[in-house]
Amino acid sequence: MTIPFNRKLDFEYARLQRVAPGLRRIVARNPSPFTWHGTGTYVIGEGNVAVIDPGPDLAEHIAALLAALAGETITHLLVTHTHRDHSPACRPVQRATGAYTYGFGRHGSGTIDAGVQVEEGADNDFVPDVLLADGDIVTGDGWSVECVHTPGHTSNHMCYQWREPKALFCGDHIMGWSTTTISPPDGDIAAYLKSLELLLTRDDNCYWPTHGDCVRDPKPLVRALIAHRLERADEIRACLADGVDRIADMVPRMYADLPETMHSAAARSVFSTLVYLIERQEVSFDGELHATARFYPKA
Ligand SMILES: [Zn+2]
Repeated sequence: MTIPFNRKLDFEYARLQRVAPGLRRIVARNPSPFTWHGTGTYVIGEGNVAVIDPGPDLAEHIAALLAALAGETITHLLVTHTHRDHSPACRPVQRATGAYTYGFGRHGSGTIDAGVQVEEGADNDFVPDVLLADGDIVTGDGWSVECVHTPGHTSNHMCYQWREPKALFCGDHIMGWSTTTISPPDGDIAAYLKSLELLLTRDDNCYWPTHGDCVRDPKPLVRALIAHRLERADEIRACLADGVDRIADMVPRMYADLPETMHSAAARSVFSTLVYLIERQEVSFDGELHATARFYPKA
């Protein structure tokens, strides 16, 4: 199946560019197989503005953002989630401006078991000044956003709908150019699928992902992403039926086209899907639940 991604992005690093009326974006120079060209930091409004996901702690990016907004006031720093390419720039930007930070909570705050060890790449130091819950409305000068809690990529992931144009800032819940990573224990496929289904019930006109350009016809993309995850689950069922019972052996079979450098990321994704199948009582494992365990269909 093909997922309708858009792999075009018009941008220049360190430049805050207008991408829609009342909306500007600056892309940080942190390209990688996970971030694509880098983190897209959005600025809503004019004069008194909100910044969504200030980004990684990169001096060039932060200086360019602050310089471009000289003469304006950042009143809100909205954070979709606490990965290192999204929230760390809050600290220097807050030091420079005094703006308050907003988010669902610190990393791992949406997971049920307290004290669960969360994955690499997390910004464990970020604690929002203002805690947000699903459905909360944050209002600024000439703009307002509705908070949409969308656990899955991380348990504290929040999307923000800019209410006036009904534009959803979807963070890493939906990427414009690729599928997102779901890494247990904080990443959770069952939660992720639910959070995708939630988007299908909404009336957002378009999505602005952190990694990728505007998605103007979002629902076909959401449906394709759901179908893709379910297809991966089917592929794992097929592996198990054929006696391929270790993740290390499933990855080359399921991701034949993927460069080997990405296999460890694929392994996290297979593991997350196995956790989903275990929760559905379809799969068992030997010993401790770990990525190196032996998995088999539950009788
Ligand atoms: Zn992320």
